[in-house]
Amino acid sequence: MKVLVINCGSSSLKYQVLDMTNEVLECKGLVERIGMDGSVITHEKTGMDKFKLVVPMEDHKAAIGHVLMAIQDENHGVIKSMDEIGAVGHRVVHAGEKYDKSVLITDEVYKALEECIPLAPLHNPPNLLGIDACKQLMPKTPMVAVFDTAFHQTMPPESYIYAIPYEYYEKHGIRRYGFHGTSHKYVAERAADILNVSLDDLKLITCHLGNGASVSAIKRGKCIDTSMGFTPLEGLVMGTRSGDIDPAIVTYMREVENLDQGKANEILNKKSGVLGISGISSDFRDLEEAAADGNERAMLALKVFAHKVRFYIGAYIAEMNGCDAIVFTAGLGENGIDMRDVICNDLGNLGIKIDVVKNKVRGKETIISREDSKIKVILVPTNEELMIARDTYNIVTGKGVK
Ligand code: ADP
Repeated sequence: MKVLVINCGSSSLKYQVLDMTNEVLECKGLVERIGMDGSVITHEKTGMDKFKLVVPMEDHKAAIGHVLMAIQDENHGVIKSMDEIGAVGHRVVHAGEKYDKSVLITDEVYKALEECIPLAPLHNPPNLLGIDACKQLMPKTPMVAVFDTAFHQTMPPESYIYAIPYEYYEKHGIRRYGFHGTSHKYVAERAADILNVSLDDLKLITCHLGNGASVSAIKRGKCIDTSMGFTPLEGLVMGTRSGDIDPAIVTYMREVENLDQGKANEILNKKSGVLGISGISSDFRDLEEAAADGNERAMLALKVFAHKVRFYIGAYIAEMNGCDAIVFTAGLGENGIDMRDVICNDLGNLGIKIDVVKNKVRGKETIISREDSKIKVILVPTNEELMIARDTYNIVTGKGVK
C-alpha cells in the first residue's frame, strides 16, 4: 500500500509518498507561498532531479490539487491513478489531552481537533485545512491524524502540572503538553534497535535540536518528561525562541519597552533564542562561522544554547535515576559536530564520554561515544514522515498503533 503524508503549515505544505510494503520513499515535495503571489511546488521523485512549477494556488485545496497532479505526473509521478493511494497521514500539532496515539480521522476526531484550536491557534487551523482539502479531493481515502503531542501524554502529573492555580489547568487546559513527539518516539525506537536492547529496558534522553528544539526523558519507551511546555516556547534556547525565562520578564519587558501582547509574543517566539543573543542569525552554521571569526556574541549564543541542553540532560538523568543513552537528532543534532562535542564535553563523572573521532559524522546512525562510556551517545537522523506513514498504514490495515 502507498501512503501520502501531508504536513500542512499556514502558507506551506510538505508531502511524501511512501510504499509501505517496504517503507520506501517514492517522492517528496514542498509547496510554498500558498495564497500569495508566486506560489510554487517543488517535487522530487526519488532518484530524479527536482521539478519546480510556479503556479497560482489560492488556498490549501488548490495546493493539494497540485500535489495530486505532481504525484500522478507522467514523468515525475509515482502513481498512475489516485486509487493507488491507500491512505493519507496528516501531521497534526495539537491533540490536547484527547489522544495519546494516532487515530483514524472521523467526524468526531475532526471536531475534537477543532476544539484544540485555542491551544494551537497557529498550527491546528492549517492542519485542518489540509484535512478538509484531502476530504474534498479524495473523499473515499481513509485518513489518519498523527499528533506532535501524543507521545508525551504518558508524562506523570508532576511533570506536566505548572505551579499556578490548579483551576487554570481544569478550566483552560494550561499544562505541559510537549511537542516533536513523533520525532522523539522515532529516534527512541531506532536507538533501541541500534543498541539491540528492548525499549522496555532502556532509559533514554532524546535531544531534538533543530530550529525548534526539545529534550525528552523516555523511560521504558514512555515519555516521562519533556522540555517544551504548554506551547513550543518553553525549554531549550532555540533558533528564535527564548526557551525558559523568568515569567516576570514578560510583564517587565512589556512595561519598559511599551509592548502590546502580540509584540511581546513575537519577540519571544521570533526575535529571541540564539538570534536574539547573537544579533546575527538563527542558523547555527552562521553562528559557528561568526564565532570562528571571533564574534563574541555568536560565541555567547552557542555557549548559552549548549549550557541549556546540558542542564536538561543532567535534570533528566536525575529524574530517571540514570540513563542508558543520549540520542541526538534534527538539523543541529545530526550535523553539529562541534555542538555535540561541547554538550557532551567533561561529563565523564556522569558516565558520558564522547569519542571525538567517531563524533566527526553527519546525518548517519552512529554510536559516537567511547567503548568505556557508561551512557552511550547516539546520532539518529529523524524521520517524522516515515513515522506518520507507519502509523497510518498500521491503523488502516487494522494492525493498530502503540
Ligand atoms: P526545523 O525542521 O526545526 O526547521 P532542522 O531540523 O532542519 O529545523 O534544523 C535546522 C537547524 O540545523 C539550523 O539552525 C541549522 O543551522 C542547523 N544545521 C543544519 N546543518 C548544520 C551543520 N552542518 N552544522 C551546524 N548546524 C547545522
